Amino acid sequence: MLLSIVVPCYNEEAVIAETLKRLSTFSREVKGLDIEFIFVDDGSKDATRSILKQHAAHDHRIRLIGFSRNFGHQIAVTAGVDAARGDAVVLIDADLQDPPEAIHGMIEKWQAGFDVVYGTRTDRPGESAFKRATAKGFYRLLNRLSDVPIPLDTGDFRLMSRPVIDTLRAMPERDRFVRGMVSWAGFKQIALPYQRAKRFAGESKYPLSKMIRFASDGIMSFSAKPLQLAMAMGMGTSLLALIGIFYALFLRIFTNIWVEGWTALMIAVLFLGGVQLICVGILGEYIGRIYKESKQRPLYVVQEYCGFNDEIAFSRSPVVDRK
Ligand code: UDP
Ligand code: MG
Repeated sequence: MLLSIVVPCYNEEAVIAETLKRLSTFSREVKGLDIEFIFVDDGSKDATRSILKQHAAHDHRIRLIGFSRNFGHQIAVTAGVDAARGDAVVLIDADLQDPPEAIHGMIEKWQAGFDVVYGTRTDRPGESAFKRATAKGFYRLLNRLSDVPIPLDTGDFRLMSRPVIDTLRAMPERDRFVRGMVSWAGFKQIALPYQRAKRFAGESKYPLSKMIRFASDGIMSFSAKPLQLAMAMGMGTSLLALIGIFYALFLRIFTNIWVEGWTALMIAVLFLGGVQLICVGILGEYIGRIYKESKQRPLYVVQEYCGFNDEIAFSRSPVVDRK
């Protein structure tokens, strides 16, 4: 049986050597399973790729996928999963926030018959109060909106069996929210609580802008509820307008005064304008996504595959250059 460990890396030169060390210690402790490592270099601008290449040259278990530019974490994970040949695949971050030792527990659960073992974070030390609060709020909001239940406080650190991997491969969508897609796939899933560690070195590669993008991907790919919200806002404002009309008529009939009302008029115009723009914006987000899908571009472009020989399981890249 083969276990593939997929590690997305973006500008991780400060941690990557330590990550390799920890993963190799971990792999020595695993009994009865072969292991392959698939590192996906997501267009790093630092020495990450050359460090990985050196290691791949000496260790046949290490394989490297080098993107032609930065495509983003979720796409990097996708490329790794595509190329993995294992009977099970583990996704793990390069910054050692997800402890490799927790994989032992995942393997146990997999051997006991589960198809997805996802790590839930019991604690997030070393992350700012802002990050923790936004993450917490996001997972709860997503769960309320989403059409499939997506487990709370769960990242991409997880083990997936071959049927789940094949299901992911069959999903062509561009806006990829991997943890939601795995929930959607079904099969037997179970949580494994673990303590999230501090980032070993370097900085988070998720600035606020990427976090917002990620959150809206999560919500929009798994829910049409924002569109219903637009409808609800429209109904709410119509109701307000109706109340205003009756109020004006009431005054006219019973007191013989017209409502005086530059202020009221302005408020109504601005309010309606605001609501309409928000609704157009929500529509626009979905249409933008449809547009992106309709272009049918490849999901990622691989500049080089190192250490794969002839055995790349599956690739969505137009260029497949083996080294
Ligand atoms: N990452 C990536 N591409 C990106 C951003 C991040 O491959 O565009 C990788 C990064 O190297 C790390 C993982 O995704 O292995 C998670 O990123 P990070 O630790 O910066 O996110 P955080 O833990 O702060 O949410
Ligand atoms: Mg991290």
